[in-house]
Amino acid sequence: MPEGDTIFRSARALHRALAGKLVTRFEAAYAHLASVDDDKRIAGRTVERVEARGKWLLMYFSGDLILVTHMRMNGSWHIYRSGERWRRPRRDMRVVIETADWSAVGFAVPVAEFHSAASLLRKTMIPALGPDLLKQDFDLGGAVAGMRERADEQVGEVLLNQKVMAGIGNVYKSETCFICGVNPFRQVQTVDTTELEQLIFTARKLLTLNVAEDANGEILTYAGLRRTTRTGDHTARLWVYGRRGEPCRRCGTPIEMRKQGVGARSTFWCPVCQPIQ
Ligand SMILES: [Zn+2]
Repeated sequence: MPEGDTIFRSARALHRALAGKLVTRFEAAYAHLASVDDDKRIAGRTVERVEARGKWLLMYFSGDLILVTHMRMNGSWHIYRSGERWRRPRRDMRVVIETADWSAVGFAVPVAEFHSAASLLRKTMIPALGPDLLKQDFDLGGAVAGMRERADEQVGEVLLNQKVMAGIGNVYKSETCFICGVNPFRQVQTVDTTELEQLIFTARKLLTLNVAEDANGEILTYAGLRRTTRTGDHTARLWVYGRRGEPCRRCGTPIEMRKQGVGARSTFWCPVCQPIQ
């Protein structure tokens, strides 16, 4: 099951590739989408933005048309350079949106529907997102308050909760906690406000750096895989993520890993640099 933060990254990659671009071709395997296309012609519209809301992915087209998809268990959005070979079989294709440079392909998305802004508002099951860490006017107070509301949850889980704040993925969850010296298994109520603000600031900084890097011709796929020709060990620059059993870069203690939260996501930490209390 794709997690909220994975869908958030997917939406960001799609947004970067498609926003502001003219749709040159639209194709749908679902009759209800094809009939909207017959009436309203998606080709010729501009993609305004792509955003994630929890496990929903929303693609906004000019002229008040929004394509809403949900991934459920097996759905995914991929992005390909024009002419590039797809990495899932064609029979899984449900939606294709092409621009001059890119093809965005929704594979096996079981829920896909068009909305107007008004009909989207009535669809109450699509959650609102927490403050977006990448926005310039990011609401720090709102994010701290959102964390405080989850006093009895663990820091590592709350950092991943896209309703509290949007943008932190599983890698930066572990990295952020290490940099701040906070054990990811601590309950939020044991963490003071200065530490919470430090966690949020750190996550923001890491994300901003990462985006700058992505802008350098790199696109993250739905699965969070980096599509790049650059070589090198991706963990070489990370403090703890993916380094179970390897020595802590600060104190030499072996890094530990444990599954955390309802999604059983891998959490890496140093037991010495990040004491439980
Ligand atoms: Zn350490």
